[in-house]
Amino acid sequence: MVTESRTSRPEVAIVGAGPVGLLLAGELAGSGIRVIVLERSEAASDAPRANGVVGRSAVDLARRGVLKDTRLRVLAVPRFSFGPLVLRLGLRGPLHILPVPQRRLEQLLETRATRLGAEILRGHEVTTVAQSEDAARLEIRHDGSALTMTADYAIGCDGAHSLVRHAAGIAFPGLTDDDISRIARVTIPRGRISRTRGGFDIPGVGPVSAMHPQRMPGGSFSIAPAAALDRTAPRDLYLISTRETRGDTAAQDPLPVEELRASLRRVLGTDLPFADASNARSVVGNCRLATAYRSGRLLLAGDAAHVFNAGGASLNVGFQDAFALSAALTAVLRQCAAETELDAYADTRHAAGERAIDHTRIQAALSADDENARALNTVITALLSRRSGARTLARLLEEG
Ligand SMILES: Cc1cc2nc3c(=O)[nH]c(=O)nc-3n(C[C@H](O)[C@H](O)[C@H](O)COP(=O)(O)OP(=O)(O)OC[C@H]3O[C@@H](n4cnc5c(N)ncnc54)[C@H](O)[C@@H]3O)c2cc1C
Repeated sequence: MVTESRTSRPEVAIVGAGPVGLLLAGELAGSGIRVIVLERSEAASDAPRANGVVGRSAVDLARRGVLKDTRLRVLAVPRFSFGPLVLRLGLRGPLHILPVPQRRLEQLLETRATRLGAEILRGHEVTTVAQSEDAARLEIRHDGSALTMTADYAIGCDGAHSLVRHAAGIAFPGLTDDDISRIARVTIPRGRISRTRGGFDIPGVGPVSAMHPQRMPGGSFSIAPAAALDRTAPRDLYLISTRETRGDTAAQDPLPVEELRASLRRVLGTDLPFADASNARSVVGNCRLATAYRSGRLLLAGDAAHVFNAGGASLNVGFQDAFALSAALTAVLRQCAAETELDAYADTRHAAGERAIDHTRIQAALSADDENARALNTVITALLSRRSGARTLARLLEEG
């Protein structure tokens, strides 16, 4: 049986309570727009995803008070990885970072959205999205029942496999990586690896810097102390990842610890002396961009519109989508602006997605293991060795 949702008709229904949907909900509710977020999960996921926000969105979040009453701080970083290269930006560089686990950021955004008046309905899976000239209509599965909801607009913030994007008939072309990444939190008992300036000395490997992927005999490896992101984390807990050629291996979640261990051995050429591992999984990167961000009353933002495989650009670009879409919807719903505002959103943010895809493709090209990549590396390294060159590129990454 299909029943009309008891909740009053929202002006905007957002599908997905990931970081982008939650930020958008808070922005719209802050403008007095009736907004409901429909999220299929009963509770937020604990799986580790982003470790931080890179770019101007970090500053925008701080300005909006999202970090108030927390110990989180936005940093202007002196250096930043660009594929295999390191941008040396000097003090007070143009690139900002907010180190924060994604889960924590989602909690802050959810609290803010709710405080501003957004309604967040968990355990509500959107199963169908359709539109007419004057409304978007959603069918929802909740607690074994089928509900329907109408709204002026439905926004797909429902991630890379977006139902809203499919319903809107928008294609998602792009490339799937030839590499596979394996990620985990591991405990390395005290004394098994030693700290160096800016990194660690790993027996059988030598010095490796912290927080930056680096080339190793069999791929690339990165390690970061969990306490760098969360001061309350145990001192012997680390976030590690490997990246190596995928072959025909598929992504796995959860990833068996033995496969993590084997990957570390292939990449490092020796064993990493960890005692136990949690949240291990493998991920195959994609670089894809929706062909359009709007179809009538259906719009896209965040991973539903774009996925990148490098460089920590995703949240920055997704959050800038949310700010721009909130401004466009507010203009249309509250300031009698024409619907062309929504087309302007779609066009400008699609262009931003294209730029971010270019940046991730350049990083992939620099990371390749062939003669062309080596030549590219030599020339780009020379250009970026000037602080002005590195800062120019950092400004582009900041933009989002
Ligand atoms: C291992 C890993 C590390 C990463 N590191 C970084 C990083 O350091 N920096 C960075 O910027 N980015 C990083 N990313 C990318 C970042 O996590 C994503 O860009 C971000 O989560 C996208 O947010 P979103 O809100 O657009 O989508 P999502 O976070 O995917 O949220 C989509 C939500 O929609 C819900 N949903 C989907 N379908 C439906 C439906 N039909 N009905 C109801 N709800 C639905 C899902 O349950 C989910 O909650 C990383 C990703 C991974 C996997």
